[in-house]
Amino acid sequence: MNDAAKTNPPLDAVIIGAGFTGLYQLWSLRKLGLRVRVVDAAAGVGGTWYWNCYPGARTDSPSNIYQYWFSDELLEEWNWQQRYPDQAESERYFNHVADRFDLRKDISFNTRVDAMSWDDATSRWNVKTNTGETLNTQFVITALGPLSAPLVPPFKGHETFKGRLVHTARWPREGVDLKGKRVGVIGTGATGIQVVQTIAPEVERLTVFQRTANYAVPMINPRYNDADRTAIRAQYPETRKAIWTTFAGFDQQSQTRAYFSIPAEERREILETLWADGTLKIWVGAFNEIFFDPAVSDEISEFVREKIRARIVDPKVAEKLLPKDHGFGTRRVPLENGYFTSFNRPNVDLVDLHATPIECITERGIRTSAGEIELDVIILATGFDAGTGGFLAMDIRGRNGVSLREEWKKEVRTTMGLQIHGFPNLFTTSAPYAPAAAFCNAPTCLQHQVQWITETIDYLRKHGRAVIEPTAETEQRWLTQHDEMANQTLVAKTKSWYTGGNVEGKHFRLLSYIGGLPAYIEACDQVKQKDYEGFEVA
Ligand code: NAP
Repeated sequence: MNDAAKTNPPLDAVIIGAGFTGLYQLWSLRKLGLRVRVVDAAAGVGGTWYWNCYPGARTDSPSNIYQYWFSDELLEEWNWQQRYPDQAESERYFNHVADRFDLRKDISFNTRVDAMSWDDATSRWNVKTNTGETLNTQFVITALGPLSAPLVPPFKGHETFKGRLVHTARWPREGVDLKGKRVGVIGTGATGIQVVQTIAPEVERLTVFQRTANYAVPMINPRYNDADRTAIRAQYPETRKAIWTTFAGFDQQSQTRAYFSIPAEERREILETLWADGTLKIWVGAFNEIFFDPAVSDEISEFVREKIRARIVDPKVAEKLLPKDHGFGTRRVPLENGYFTSFNRPNVDLVDLHATPIECITERGIRTSAGEIELDVIILATGFDAGTGGFLAMDIRGRNGVSLREEWKKEVRTTMGLQIHGFPNLFTTSAPYAPAAAFCNAPTCLQHQVQWITETIDYLRKHGRAVIEPTAETEQRWLTQHDEMANQTLVAKTKSWYTGGNVEGKHFRLLSYIGGLPAYIEACDQVKQKDYEGFEVA
């Protein structure tokens, strides 16, 4: 920790998290002349891309839209090596950004916020860290990322396992030697898929424990040379405009024609073209009706099942791998390269947990209802307590000592995912009920949120105001509108981390605003244009 933190002068802003959002928020608030401190539990920058260093981790958003737009110099000098950067490349990017803009001097690493409380008398926050410090600040901005609290299912016998047990989001930085080992992977979400396809060739035996079969689209991941990068850079003016205008913050516009207005043969051709694109276009850059219309969802889901079926040699294994209990795109669709064909390898087994559930973890491995499977390493690719988990890890007390944990036990509430009534001067990013919580290319939505927060703080300062908080009525209006829209969708009816359905006892409600990014940006702009109508500004 550096000297500035030790002496602990009053701050204008504390940012929690030094990942994608936190770094940009620091850069932005510094430009306003604020005294800012970032704290992060990790030993380095990168957030998600620091922690998730498991084998095969890489983005599912192409590098041209998984980056910052605030600096032309940065856009010009950073050379992406491939369409979909792996964890190491992403982490290098964040380190470069931190060094390039001299951000580290304002970051306390290895520092976790345990608690924070609002002091009504001074209208300031006191933020307590695990290092024993209290940071006194006017504003707090949480930049936790939606997926920062790993979910470890309470398997019986967890602690008895004599081998190595690791969660993908806490993967040891020094790596885990899997060569020649008997490895079990629990979970077949985006993470499990990447782990399985990466380690299958190197381990002696791989057992994949699947509860819900998942759709996935084949990734095409070209390496870039200088000519590619020049061509991509030439597109940047269009790309940086396009991302704000699409439903989910990607750079591809969805189809404007209604799905069933297109003749069947042409629909098939379109789906084939989308499939061959090697991106998530078939999900978030094609027909938004898949989120609302069961008939559209059925047809596209069947198309994808057909594609998966064709790649698996054993028809019995194929049947187990085909998702049938939810529509394509109602859960987060991962990209894959080699996941499904891993099950054609003689050293890979699939355990269908619907048929043979896990009973417990034993000293030697995992016992399902069909018997014990001996393992040297168990990999938990079991996901996250999304959206809320990062907040609930801290004891946050707002006005009159009200506890966010207690409030959110009753109901998770935010205003536009940016502020919470009763918690003044607390700005939240990637919190529930904004697209950034889930339903967006995260960098696009998070950069928008950082800009809104920065402009709001700038507004307060320019108008000689010190405190901002949404009214209870504004918050209720946002939630009502959110629910009305969400409840028309198939996504809101599907069990996944999008709806809190992956966490035992969590309220079932779509976490993410699903009206599309342009509508969300418009709502945020309206607030600014109307001088924060619906917010108490003092
Ligand atoms: P996830 O999508 O929530 O998947 C967790 C997996 O663990 C699911 O298959 C789940 O089964 C299983 N699971 C959880 N608890 C279990 C239990 N008690 N018993 C058996 N199985 C259990 O989590 P994730 O794969 O870590 O991905 C989360 C999100 O992170 C992704 O959707 C994506 O947004 C992001 N991510 C992105 C990338 C990328 O960009 N390439 C890569 C990784 C992650 P059920 O489905 O039955 O609950």
